[in-house]
Amino acid sequence: MSNDNSSIHDFEIELICEYFSLLERQGPGSPDVTLKALSFIDNLSSESQIADLGCGTGGQTIVLAQNAPGQITGLDLFPKFIDLFNSNIRKSGLENRVKGIIGSMDNLPFQKESLDLIWSEGAIYNIGFENGLKTWRPFLKKGGYVAVSEASWFTTERPKEIDSFWKDAYPGIDTIPGNMQKMQDSGYIPIASFILPKDCWIDHFYKPQVRAEKVFLNKNAGNKTAIDFIANQKHETELYYKYKKFYGYAFYIGKKI
Ligand code: SAM
Repeated sequence: MSNDNSSIHDFEIELICEYFSLLERQGPGSPDVTLKALSFIDNLSSESQIADLGCGTGGQTIVLAQNAPGQITGLDLFPKFIDLFNSNIRKSGLENRVKGIIGSMDNLPFQKESLDLIWSEGAIYNIGFENGLKTWRPFLKKGGYVAVSEASWFTTERPKEIDSFWKDAYPGIDTIPGNMQKMQDSGYIPIASFILPKDCWIDHFYKPQVRAEKVFLNKNAGNKTAIDFIANQKHETELYYKYKKFYGYAFYIGKKI
């Protein structure tokens, strides 16, 4: 029984990875936003050690590497993403400074106090915002930075439909002041937070999915799991258009005390 369940689960994960591999980014964001977040970081040199956790196929890592000095390790749970990551890094000519490794963000393979910067776009939710900040802190040097983007409420009240959707999908979602407080409580000075503009969702995440959906459904024609998955993606997209004034992504930048 448990074996059956886990193979169904593995099968779904395989399909989800296949779908997101068709996209340059696996979450909302943009080169402009990566650069804006980077503008708050002032401790980097060619000796710096940077980790990009939940790096996916590396859309944001390439922007980071082209605009920040130092060595970057991208880490992701899924081998398919890391294969694509390393191939994208080679195509960008960055392989001397950037490498992708398979690993989990809750069991980091780095030395304690070895990192100058921990970057993570749209991925810390996998282990929870506060838990992630606390788990990662020992790996940063004193004075090192963390820069993460996270789904966040913009208001303290919101319509029931979107409130229920997020409480089911990610009960840890909080307001921006709530997350800033969690950052402070986790041993960081909160340096900055800013809301990602809507183009990060619409132009850089949802619009590229129109083509990806077609390719994916053609390849998996008649596969109910694939069809249901795309229906869910469409539902999420519709909810975003309907309720975007109540939630979105925010970037949070903190400095280890
Ligand atoms: N940072 C990329 C971006 O912005 O395009 C990817 C964001 S995607 C929404 C979340 C990423 O977290 C996926 O690539 C997923 O494979 C990765 N992930 C999920 N659980 C993880 C874990 N425990 N450790 C490392 N990566 C994980």
